This record gives sequence, structure tokens and C-alpha cells, in this order.
Amino acid sequence: MIKIKNISKIYNKGKFNEFIALKSISCQIETGSWTTVVGASGSGKSTLLKCLSGLERISAGEIYLDEEKISELSEKKLLLLRKNKISFIFQDYNLIEDLKMIENIFLDTKVDDSILTLANDWGVDDVLYRFPNECSGGQRQKIAILRALNQKSSIIFCDEPTGALDTKSSKEVLKVLKQINKERKTTIIMVTHNTLIEKISDYVVTVHDGEILSYEKNNLVTEVDDVQW
Ligand code: ADP
Ligand code: MG
Repeated sequence: MIKIKNISKIYNKGKFNEFIALKSISCQIETGSWTTVVGASGSGKSTLLKCLSGLERISAGEIYLDEEKISELSEKKLLLLRKNKISFIFQDYNLIEDLKMIENIFLDTKVDDSILTLANDWGVDDVLYRFPNECSGGQRQKIAILRALNQKSSIIFCDEPTGALDTKSSKEVLKVLKQINKERKTTIIMVTHNTLIEKISDYVVTVHDGEILSYEKNNLVTEVDDVQW
């Protein structure tokens, strides 16, 4: 369970360009659930994900992960937590430009055949030995998702993970995420503009101007294949 208590995020605090991106937000995210975060551009969705995953420090409030207060961990402990428990699929992919795609996926871990099989299923097996700048946005996005899957974390934060993908590819990716969400009880927290993704989620959080406008449980969770895309 992730518990968020009155968290605020102020960028450039005390400077002329100070900006309050999150305004005393509270909510809870259940372990093993799929939570989708929606809201207009600039409403604070990415900021929320970055704060919850420890990529950004919050300005006020508290974040607990399974009863452990993670909002005040030292950099070292936070790094360890992120390495062991948390993966992040970035909106802008965040691939390392001078590593080949296959090195980006596996980093310092051994090559995992099940991930290579997925690369094959998703049609990116032929770009594994290319550098990121030799690939399309959709290919980069798939590689970034494979990197996150390879980490086998208990929580995956996904910031618009299908933004660069066509409908067919989006479905393939969502099906795999749904499968690990069900089988491994991986917690999925996903920002998206695709309203159809709300149908496959357990919870939908709507963010507006740095505040949570609504937090709704979906009582009719649909399988990826049963959604009319
Ligand atoms: P969303 O993901 O919903 O589009 P963001 O969380 O990226 O929104 O941004 C929320 C607001 O915070 C925006 O107005 C954005 O300009 C601002 N913001 C985001 N990151 C920074 C930053 N590093 N420094 C200053 N302002 C930022
Ligand atoms: Mg964003």
C-alpha cells in the first residue's frame, strides 16, 4: 500500500519562478492494483508519479510504502528502494543514448530470454543492436517498457507508456502489463490520455491544477481484448 498524506510539490521554491505543482494531495494506492491517473496537460500527473517513486523530493507531507515512511529516506536508501522495488517508464523514454537497445534493456542484469521473446512478439527484435537515435519513437518506447519489465519490480510507474504507440502495439503492451499485474500482483500506476485505459483499471484518479479532483473505483474492470479500441 502506498499512502500519500498531504503532499505538496513546489518547484523553484522561493525564486521568482516558484510554481506549486501539487497542492496538499492525499490518497492511497492498494498493493497489486492498477491505478490510472488522468488530467489535462500541466495538471501535475508526471510530478505526482515522480514524487511517489522518489525521483523528486516532495516539499511537504508524507509518503509511506508498506508502512515505511519513504519521503524522508536518505539518498542512498532511496536509491536502493528504487533499485529493488520501483520501475519507472518515462514519458520521454530516458534511454542511454550511447548504449545499444539490448544494453539499455538489461543494463547490469543478465539477459533474460522471456524479455527477448517479448521483444520478438512486439517486433523490436531487429533493433536490439541499434542505438536509440537509430530508432523510432515507438521502438524506443517499447525498449523502455522492456527495460522496466526486466527489473521485475513490485511497483511500475508508467508515464504515458503508450503515447508513441499505435492501437495494436498499445494493446500488446497493455496486455503484458495487465498479465504481470494479475500474476505477480505488480502494482501499476499509469498516467494516460487514453480514456479507454480507464476501463481496464481498478482505480482512476483525476488530477486538476495540482489537486485530486476525484478518486474512483472501477466496478467493471474490463480485459484488454474486450475493450472496443
Ligand atoms: P502533466 O504531467 O500533468 O502534464 P507536470 O507534472 O509535468 O504535468 O507539470 C505540472 C506543472 O509543473 C506544469 O505547469 C509544469 O510546467 C510544472 N513543472 C514540471 N516540472 C517542473 C520543473 N522541473 N521545474 C519547474 N516547473 C515544473
Ligand atoms: Mg506529464
